[in-house]
Amino acid sequence: MDFEIVIGFEVHTELKTNSKVWCGCSTAFGAPPNTNVCPVCLGMPGSLPVLNGKAFDLSLKTALAMNCKIPDVASFDRKNYYYPDLPKNYQISQNDRFIGTDGWIDVGQPDGTVKRIGIDNIHLEEDAGKNIHPEGRAVDYSLVDLNRAGTPLLEIVTRPDLRSREEAAAFMNAMRTLLQYLDVSDCKMQEGSLRFELNMSLRKPGSTEYGQKVEVKNLNSMSVVLKCIDAEYERQADILEEGGRVAQETRLWDEARSETRSMRSKETANDYRYFPDPDLVDYTITAEKQAEISKDLPELPLARRQRFMDEFELSPYDAGVLTSHIATANYFERAVASHRNPKGICNWIMSEVLAWLNKQPEDTTIDDFPVSAENLAGLVALIDKETITGKIAKQVFPLMVETGKEASVLVEEKGLKPLDDSSLEPIVDEVLAEMSKVAEDLKGGKEKAMGALMGGVMRKTKGKANPAVVTPMIRKKLGLE
Ligand SMILES: [Zn+2]
Repeated sequence: MDFEIVIGFEVHTELKTNSKVWCGCSTAFGAPPNTNVCPVCLGMPGSLPVLNGKAFDLSLKTALAMNCKIPDVASFDRKNYYYPDLPKNYQISQNDRFIGTDGWIDVGQPDGTVKRIGIDNIHLEEDAGKNIHPEGRAVDYSLVDLNRAGTPLLEIVTRPDLRSREEAAAFMNAMRTLLQYLDVSDCKMQEGSLRFELNMSLRKPGSTEYGQKVEVKNLNSMSVVLKCIDAEYERQADILEEGGRVAQETRLWDEARSETRSMRSKETANDYRYFPDPDLVDYTITAEKQAEISKDLPELPLARRQRFMDEFELSPYDAGVLTSHIATANYFERAVASHRNPKGICNWIMSEVLAWLNKQPEDTTIDDFPVSAENLAGLVALIDKETITGKIAKQVFPLMVETGKEASVLVEEKGLKPLDDSSLEPIVDEVLAEMSKVAEDLKGGKEKAMGALMGGVMRKTKGKANPAVVTPMIRKKLGLE
């Protein structure tokens, strides 16, 4: 039997602030263990938290960009649980008076349509530290690093509006893209600054009731989330087909075995004994504050995609790929500003540049690409001016990647300029003599033969012939003009 997949996400993203949310400690990644700590984030008795205003503003910015309702007052609560990476034995979070509720984000689909995904709420909390489990047979201890404890963490809780792994993939990409555009997080999944927790259930097609949802943690990349969706589908479908019930629980992804395993039965809000944090005052969100943050919202991804389609006449697919990362969209616009051939520049980015990017580590962006936008535009300009052929450009491009030099400089250095008429003519004569049968075909009206002759000329010149020059030359020599 086939089941319908119902998916929602809890998205956790570390906010881009220099200091932690309740104290002045640095949030820098990669410092030696337990060096970015103080009495507040170590949970020492008597230490008091003070809200980091920047973290609150970034949260509000995200909530506004995701079309949330903003309350007049937001407040913070203690979520009580015990774990070695949580020194206070509670996490400061928000239980009900969130920073934003009832919002949505639009997720662009490859065909140009849009699917709207509901946001239940957005709230600000603190990240925990990290437990490290050294590997090895004789190791019988774990280590705790509290550098991350107190890093501002924004949690975005969606409604269960996603219906397939493809929609889940599009949603995760759209969410990351939006957070990057807002510049509220560096969104590095490898470093844990963006994490997706999956809520998933199955139901019979046509059913309007939700099945029992299962929450899965420990998903550290988007491809792992997709693998997990497949594995959970199999597991839950097996249970349902045998007439069983899916248990309400939190499960953990086991990468080595490519399956989920039970972590704990799902706790309810009551288990956490939430109560308002008496150390923190309520936070009033004035209309002025909202207006001030709204004013700073950038052009958002879907608006930019539409503009790319209108202004540069790109297809929905091309415009979607170019705007899927803010760095790529900026690169494209810089290149077009330098040489106005949007379609030509788009083609180079979509093929050669993205091919390079796909071979790099996951968090690499086009800002790391050795060829500047202006230099890529310079290469396209050389083709447009017919200084070089597209074929030569394909040889110049890897040299640009290797050296970072301008296209025109490399063309000079490597002698890649196309041959002039006088050097071309004897070569064309040679080809027509060697391929006389093909030449006769062309004379007889077989236009396809031109391609073969052109191929012959290109082989002899190693691609340094300009087809726009060679074609009329051949026709003239064969008496076809
Ligand atoms: Zn601290």
